[in-house]
Amino acid sequence: MNKYVTWEKEDLVKKIYELENQLSDLLEKEDDKFFVEFPWAGNLGQWYWYTKDNKVVFNDKKVITLGYNPEHVGQVGFEFFTSKLHPDDYERVMDNMRSHLSGKSDVYEVEYRIQHKDGHYLWFYDRGTITKRDSSGNVLLVQGIVFDVTESKLIEEQLRFLSERDALTSVFNRRTMYKKLGELIQIFNDSKETFSMIMFDIDHFKNINDTYGHLVGDDVLRKLAEIIIEDKRSEDIVCRYGGEEFFLLLPDTKQDGAVKVAKRLRKIIKKMDIPQVGHITVSMGVTTYQENDSIDEIIKKADDLMYEAKEDGRDNIKY
Ligand code: GH3
Ligand code: MG
Ligand code: MG
Repeated sequence: MNKYVTWEKEDLVKKIYELENQLSDLLEKEDDKFFVEFPWAGNLGQWYWYTKDNKVVFNDKKVITLGYNPEHVGQVGFEFFTSKLHPDDYERVMDNMRSHLSGKSDVYEVEYRIQHKDGHYLWFYDRGTITKRDSSGNVLLVQGIVFDVTESKLIEEQLRFLSERDALTSVFNRRTMYKKLGELIQIFNDSKETFSMIMFDIDHFKNINDTYGHLVGDDVLRKLAEIIIEDKRSEDIVCRYGGEEFFLLLPDTKQDGAVKVAKRLRKIIKKMDIPQVGHITVSMGVTTYQENDSIDEIIKKADDLMYEAKEDGRDNIKY
């Protein structure tokens, strides 16, 4: 005899409900075949995320690109991918997905770094949207596409590097210095956290060029930049303002701290032994940001002080 006959009505309804669910799951899994066979081109990959059982269906390419064999990987949940996200990108990606799932944004759209099996990171551009809900509006299916954009990201990074940096020394150029000063002023306006800066100008640099040639002069500029970079804190910003003029921007630093840095650097620079040239000296102007100063005003203050240092015999600091 069929065992269901002996069941209470309540149990029977429960069973029917379960069977209905299983059927709808089976139907969805039938859909998978269609989805997986869906054509893809170039570096485009597709994914389907069944939120109910956390099943992710994806184009093999997405897994192969990350260095894995799809046959070995088998059935995966979304954690297979999220656990490989770069720690600095993880929260941003999660926020983006949460924002879409909660209806705050129309699409899920992010760029992130994801770790290859070998350990290095690739850049993915990922975009998806909810495509199926149950009758109560709960999300059932999210579908998306993903591109490996590592190459274009590298080119983008190289272009940004070139546009922000000085070609000779690789420190920030004058344009970036203005941008960074603008950011520091914004921090001051928001939190009253002050910053200072040191302007450096090499003494009698023209003589170096005239005596040893322009290429040796270039070496001196590179050496000076290197020695400032070596000494600075990670948050300090080195910029080449002009020919042989450099700035060191010191976030969250008051006058006395900046003067200490300038004095230390003056000694370090003086001691530096440069092939052919020997020793150089610099003249420095040290300023601390005052409320309502414009970028041009603080630069002028540093410049005026640096000129005072020159007039006072060079190899000197004014503040
Ligand atoms: P002072 O002590 O008054 O600063 O004298 P100075 O000779 O250092 O100053 P001046 O401004 O007269 O000379 C700066 C020189 O820097 C002139 C210019 O030829 C040289 N210069 C500017 N940019 C470069 C560069 O990229 N490479 C080289 N080698 N020299 C440069
Ligand atoms: Mg100069
Ligand atoms: Mg000079």
